[in-house]
Amino acid sequence: MKSIIKIPFNIVLIVVVALQLYSCTDKPVNLSVARESVKEYYESGKFDEELNTVIQEAKDKFSKAEFTKNSVVIFDIDETALNNYEISKKMGYGYVYEMVHDWTQGAKVPAFPQVKELYDYLLSKGSKIIFLTAREYDEYDATYKNLINQGYTEFDTLITKNNSEQEMKSLDFKSAKRDELVQRGYDILGTVGDQWSDLEGPHHGIQVKIPIYLYQNVY
Ligand SMILES: [Mg+2]
Repeated sequence: MKSIIKIPFNIVLIVVVALQLYSCTDKPVNLSVARESVKEYYESGKFDEELNTVIQEAKDKFSKAEFTKNSVVIFDIDETALNNYEISKKMGYGYVYEMVHDWTQGAKVPAFPQVKELYDYLLSKGSKIIFLTAREYDEYDATYKNLINQGYTEFDTLITKNNSEQEMKSLDFKSAKRDELVQRGYDILGTVGDQWSDLEGPHHGIQVKIPIYLYQNVY
């Protein structure tokens, strides 16, 4: 038999007001508290639960899409195909260029199994895959090797920034590259990425937003 718990209206009101007051405060959360809450979210399984849901919803959307011989889905790499949580934690969830560069060149960054599952699903539907990343050109070889080692063995191309593109904002860079791909005859069915700069701009198709709590790109 179902039991219904009734919460008095005045209690609900107090909770709502308290939450509003809390969210209106102009004082920031202490950084060590914020770091701890990010760590807890990633390491308790909550992040994986959220990612599982995102990937399931993405598969549902793609299952209704029409695939042709030119269909392609564009994947971002960092915090999308590959998971840099380990190095992020070592840096205290900050950013140290040399540490990230060494980590990237090591070509041993693990895949997110859920994202790999979506990749496999799309290949099974006949989609092509392209990796589009703001990583630098001197990281191309390591990135290519890393993708293959993590099971991302089938893709049309891997696009990194070349030297003349280093200063481009991520949104502009990725939009321009998608434009070029469309001009070359690709039909972009979707984009998969952790930052909105991976997903916004022209020709994005179905947008799959991978959750992230480690950093945020300024467009
Ligand atoms: Mg990314």
